[in-house]
Amino acid sequence: MNVCVYTLGCRLNQCESEAIADSFSQEGFTIVGESEQADLYIVNTCTVTSKAEQKARRMIRKFALSGVVLGTGCYAQVNEEELKTLSDNVIVVPLEKKAHLLKLAKHLKASLVAGFDLKSGCLSFSDGQASVFDYDAASFSYHSRSFLKVQDGCDNECAYCRVHIARGKAVSLDSATVVQRALALEAAGFSEIMLTGVNLTMYDHTHKGLGGLLEELLAELGPDIRLRLSSLEPDHIDERLLATLSDPRMQPHFHIPVQSASNKVLSRVNRHYDIEGLSSILDRLRLAKDDPFIAADVITGLPGEGDEEFEETFRYFSEQQFAQMHVFPFSPRPDTPLFKASDRVPESLRDSRALRLRELSDRLYNSYVQRQIGKEAEVILQNRKAGSWYGLSGNYLEVKVPNAPLFAREGLLVRGVFAPLDEGTGKPIVLCHA
Ligand code: SF4
Repeated sequence: MNVCVYTLGCRLNQCESEAIADSFSQEGFTIVGESEQADLYIVNTCTVTSKAEQKARRMIRKFALSGVVLGTGCYAQVNEEELKTLSDNVIVVPLEKKAHLLKLAKHLKASLVAGFDLKSGCLSFSDGQASVFDYDAASFSYHSRSFLKVQDGCDNECAYCRVHIARGKAVSLDSATVVQRALALEAAGFSEIMLTGVNLTMYDHTHKGLGGLLEELLAELGPDIRLRLSSLEPDHIDERLLATLSDPRMQPHFHIPVQSASNKVLSRVNRHYDIEGLSSILDRLRLAKDDPFIAADVITGLPGEGDEEFEETFRYFSEQQFAQMHVFPFSPRPDTPLFKASDRVPESLRDSRALRLRELSDRLYNSYVQRQIGKEAEVILQNRKAGSWYGLSGNYLEVKVPNAPLFAREGLLVRGVFAPLDEGTGKPIVLCHA
């Protein structure tokens, strides 16, 4: 029986989806991609933007034409009723019960053997106990790299955010279990582990923090494993964390949800840092690594963003030479303090600002790629097409590796040097060392 796990939203969702897919694969189900026919679809939704919710509804309707759909995730948590009405083939599993899906495969296998149909099998399932840290995949169906969830929830209350409402208060997986799971992934042959959470820098923030966790991991893991961090909120990037980043096993890639470079706007939307503090963090990241890939999230049209505040933001991103920006036009989310804000920016202005920032992002990305030429590179191989391997570099560039070794395989870490861009694909080329 074919199962498709379709994911929207953040890396944490991807990590949790992989663990769910792994639990089905271990029970003998076949995991397939979204373009293949499946009997059961699990749609792991996101509520960050109205666009993400729209896409979830579209995909759920589409999948429901050919199979049973389990809709779960943050959107399913905050608007269960809306998803229920999409089709009779849809069963909603709110976020608080998402971890129960890790045990569904075993139950379904037994109920199918007993002669129940798939939908009845799903409806008859209930599991009493599940923790947000039960997601512990041993294999990954949709990625060549491994993910490890170490944190969930968030204690901040950014005025535009619905995620902290869906996910609840910050909680952390104890460091001994994190280390034990990381060692298992290393022993299974993974070259890279990405640490994920809703707000990763809130990992055990009242005690030793993310820096303390990284110290433990780096002390236990071998020299050939690489650690990548999912997005880092600026407000808990402390000295201890910064000190671990110069370890060569830490990937030179950082993703920071900056959102605005105007202190006035940051304070209006209840962010907990200012732009001067962020600048000194960026300086430290660049001291720890040689020209790391620093990506940023930006929201245009936040309430209170006048022309002056936007120009301030534009100038800042341009001067700071971010490698890439993920630009989101502000969409007011129900149940958040900004839902009925009176100082809203007109949509046309919000969108034209987004366009300007996206054009800036393209220019910054191209200039980042160009200045890598001639530099050393590490690449984790992902797939092979027309005789060449493709992969992801430590600094997060999708690259072509035309001369990978004969023993190359998905997930292998290779070393080489960045060469000029491939004319056919437009991707940077990495030539492996002989
Ligand atoms: S830091 Fe802010 S935006 Fe991020 S999850 Fe927490 S409340 Fe939401």
